[in-house]
Amino acid sequence: MKFYSTNNFNHQVSLADAVVKGLAPDQGLYMPERIPILPKSFFDIISDLSFKEIGYEVIGSIFCEDLSDEQIRDLVDHTLTFDAPLVKVGKDVFSLELFHGPTLAFKDFGARFCSKLMSMLLVDSNKKVRVLVATSGDTGSAVANGFLGVAGVDVIILFPKGKVSELQEKQFTTLGQNITSLEVDGVFDDCQKMVKEAFLDQELNQKLLLTSANSINIARWIPQALYYFYAFSKIPKNDKKVVFAVPSGNFGNIAAGILAQRMGLPIDHFVAATNLNKVVPDYLKGAEFKSMASIQTISNSMDVGNPSNFPRLLALFGGDEHLLKNKVSGYFYSDNETIETMQQVKKSGYTLDPHGAVGYRGLKDFMSENSGYQGVFLETAHPGKFKDVVEKALNEKLVLPERLAAFMSGKKNVEPLENNFEGFKSYLLNLD
Ligand SMILES: *Cc1c(COP(=O)(O)O)cnc(C)c1O
Repeated sequence: MKFYSTNNFNHQVSLADAVVKGLAPDQGLYMPERIPILPKSFFDIISDLSFKEIGYEVIGSIFCEDLSDEQIRDLVDHTLTFDAPLVKVGKDVFSLELFHGPTLAFKDFGARFCSKLMSMLLVDSNKKVRVLVATSGDTGSAVANGFLGVAGVDVIILFPKGKVSELQEKQFTTLGQNITSLEVDGVFDDCQKMVKEAFLDQELNQKLLLTSANSINIARWIPQALYYFYAFSKIPKNDKKVVFAVPSGNFGNIAAGILAQRMGLPIDHFVAATNLNKVVPDYLKGAEFKSMASIQTISNSMDVGNPSNFPRLLALFGGDEHLLKNKVSGYFYSDNETIETMQQVKKSGYTLDPHGAVGYRGLKDFMSENSGYQGVFLETAHPGKFKDVVEKALNEKLVLPERLAAFMSGKKNVEPLENNFEGFKSYLLNLD
C-alpha cells in the first residue's frame, strides 16, 4: 500500500516513509491510496468475533502488502491489551469506554500501535530510533507509556517546567527505561519549536534517526478505527440506524470512525461534538472553514483552534463537501452546558468526564432531532483524569483508579534543559 499526501495525490510514499515522516513534506497528511472494503462474510459474523479477531481482519486488510500475517497479529496483540466495553447509559444510548488503557484515555490505542509498528519498520541494528515529543500533558503520557520497553526505540519528551499538572507529569517522568523527560525552562511552544528545529537540522539527521509519533501520524490514526468495529459488533441488532458521537479536538478520532465506515461498517451518521472551539461545527452548518486562536475550556484536550485532521475528513468523502455535511452533524457546548450534562447523567448513575459529556450531549441533541437511531458516544478519558473539574461539578469525591494512583507514588526523574536549541542539539549529539 502506498500513502499519498492530502495536498497532492501524486506524492506517494511507502508505509515506512509515511510513519517516519509523520507529515508529508508539502505539509499534507498521509492517507492510504485506496480504502479496502471488508467482505459481507466478515460483517455477518462480526458479533461472534473478539476485539483482537476484528483487529486482525481490519488491520490485515490495510497492511497485508507491507507486513506478514505474524507481524499483523503481533501488532494487534500488542495494541489491544485492554478492553473497550460498550456500556448502556440510557434508552438507545451507549458509552464506548476507551479509558481502560495505561494512561486512561483513548490515545493509548494509537500510541501502542505506533510504537510497535515503528519497531517493526524502522529498527535495524545500526541506528536506534529516537522519538522526539513536545507535550503540554496528555500526548507525552500516552506516547511514553505506549513506547515503554519497546526495543530499539528511545523516547525523548520535552515539557514546560511547572506548566503540566502533577498527575500528568508523573505519567511520563516516572517511567525510566527507554523514556527520558527533559524539563524545559519555557512554555509548551518553546518545546515544540525545539523539536521542530531538530527535525530540520541536517547534522542531527545525519547522525540520528529521528521521528515524531505525533497525532497526525497514520500509525496513530488508523488503529483508532478498530474500536468502531468492535462497538458495532456489540450494539443490539435491530432495525434502528446507528449514529456515533465523537468529542473532537484535532478530529483524528472521528476521522478514524469515518474510515471504518468507508471500509463498509454500516454507520449511518456521525456527530462531531466540540467545546467552544467550534471551527468544524460552524463549517458543517455552512460557514467557511476558518481556524481561530484556541479557547481554554474544561474539556481541555479538545482546545484546538486549528483542527489538524480536517483534510482527512474531506479526503474520506472524496473531497465532496456536500457529502461530508450530509453525513456529519456538528454540535458545540459551553463549559456550563458540559457541567450541566455531567450532573444530569450522574443522576442516572453514570459518571462522565468533561470530554465524554460533550459527546453525550451531541448524541442526545442529534437523536432528539432525528428519529429511528440508536447511538454510541465515545467516552475518551476516565473521569479521574480530570478529577478537579469532575469533583467540583458533581460535588463529590472521586476515587482514583488504581492505575492512576500508582503513577502518583512513582519518583519523578527529569533532566533540566535550557530554553535554547543549541543546548538541545548538543544533548542529542552526545547520546551514545
Ligand atoms: C485528544 C483527546 C480528544 C480529542 O481527540 P481528537 O482525535 O483530537 O479529536 C478528546 N478527548 C480526550 C480525552 C482527548 O485526550
